[in-house]
Amino acid sequence: MTDQQPVRIGSEEITTVEGREVRAPYDDHLIATVPSCTTEHVERAIAIAKAVLADPLPPWRRAEILDAAAVAVAAHRDELAAIIAEEAAKPIRTARTEAERSVITFQSAAAETRLLAGEMVPMDAAQPGEGKLGFTLRVPRGVVAAISPFNFPLNLVAHKLAPALAAGCPVVLKPASQTPLSAIRLHEILMDECGLPPGWINIVTGSGGTVGDPLVTHPDVDVVTFTGSPGVGWSIAEKAFRKKVGLELGNNAPLIIDASGDWETAAQKVAVAGFSHAGQSCISTQRIYVHRSLLDDFTAALAERVGALRVGDPLDEATDVSSLISQAETDRVEGWIGEAVGAGASLVVGGQRHDRLLDPTILTGIEPDMEVSRSEVFGPLVGLAGFDSLDDALALANDTDYGLQAALFTTELDGALRAAHELDFGGVLVNEVPTFRTDQMPYGGVRDSGNTKEGPHWAVREMTRERLVVIQR
Ligand code: NAP
Repeated sequence: MTDQQPVRIGSEEITTVEGREVRAPYDDHLIATVPSCTTEHVERAIAIAKAVLADPLPPWRRAEILDAAAVAVAAHRDELAAIIAEEAAKPIRTARTEAERSVITFQSAAAETRLLAGEMVPMDAAQPGEGKLGFTLRVPRGVVAAISPFNFPLNLVAHKLAPALAAGCPVVLKPASQTPLSAIRLHEILMDECGLPPGWINIVTGSGGTVGDPLVTHPDVDVVTFTGSPGVGWSIAEKAFRKKVGLELGNNAPLIIDASGDWETAAQKVAVAGFSHAGQSCISTQRIYVHRSLLDDFTAALAERVGALRVGDPLDEATDVSSLISQAETDRVEGWIGEAVGAGASLVVGGQRHDRLLDPTILTGIEPDMEVSRSEVFGPLVGLAGFDSLDDALALANDTDYGLQAALFTTELDGALRAAHELDFGGVLVNEVPTFRTDQMPYGGVRDSGNTKEGPHWAVREMTRERLVVIQR
């Protein structure tokens, strides 16, 4: 058994008698144990977070800390990437990109801190307001409870911590049980190297049911920011009475390639966008609708690229695709491939399982009622179907309970504008895959994809509120 990796609540390093094991999804080796926090730890963390609000950090200090965080994360890029790769089975090159993206998240939050301001209210626009001066102050909402998923264990933690700090809100973070180590290391870096005072960020590790519930229901928590699956997210929204709740949830991203679309570029991009981190991204390209005139060419071009992806150890520089987060998830995706094939879809490449590894898979002939069309696959799989008219393709893309990002390849202005107006998603991309994201852009979904927008600019506005001040001259 390894030594337990402590978490920090205030300035205290917490360990517990019983630890929780963190095992590598790729080969099940024990990486570390972390504390099994209890309701008492959650309550202590919230009390400490609430207490620091009495001694607010001025915006310039917060911006300084966030700037220092960007520099420190860049300096620790390789170390952080190795932690991500091991605990999440994310191929090391992709893990490095995640660490680099976290730098941008901190930089953008620092910029937001410096520009955060309220607005003037034109009081004398109404006769009773004459002689009065009105303006708003942006004030922190209060203690933030942050709950993060396994698939971006560093950058999605950064997407919660950085805006909270920019907004002046202290945080209690519960990272995913499978991937707590990136968050714990980031927290150490923020406190030990970036000047973050104790109590502004506190970590509790433990299962969603044990520490998640008391965290989201506690009366001293003002904001809940959750990224994860719709089932857990909506149940949190029901429990978090009177709190500001931001949910970033699932998706099953569609891509349309119309008759004029650059299908060769699309094939090149999909070979990454459908298989990066074995498809375990909420905007992984999943359903691909291709104009029937291009279907054979596109399928062949994609198959050639996907067939060449290297499957293996996440710490090997050559690996493109590694294992899924658990055996249970691998069983599920394997089952959905079997269901689709049984219902008439055809395997183009992949579909084979080697213990913990699932080969990158292309299915063609997917139908709307198959799991691979209807649900979120979260695995190394894309499904193809042909279409005859853009009307049909737009209807197929929209036929989902999810709504995070969708995309269209076209050279027709009319098609691009129709996609912008008619694809009912939080984000629509033209001549790009639906998997494209930068960390400062507004990013959020509708329906089962959530109710909020990420990106530091938007998240800071979720975590602050405007207080009106009226002064009689
Ligand atoms: P998940 O199972 O919903 O878990 C997410 C987090 O919620 C984990 O920290 C989990 O803790 C915690 N949790 C579980 N039950 C809870 C409860 N009752 N109360 C409070 N917290 C609880 O999701 P996941 O498998 O980690 O992540 C995959 C999902 O996240 C996919 O659906 C994906 O699309 C979505 N996602 C969305 C975005 C986006 O921006 N929209 C980004 C990334 C991922 P434990 O780990 O201890 O169970």
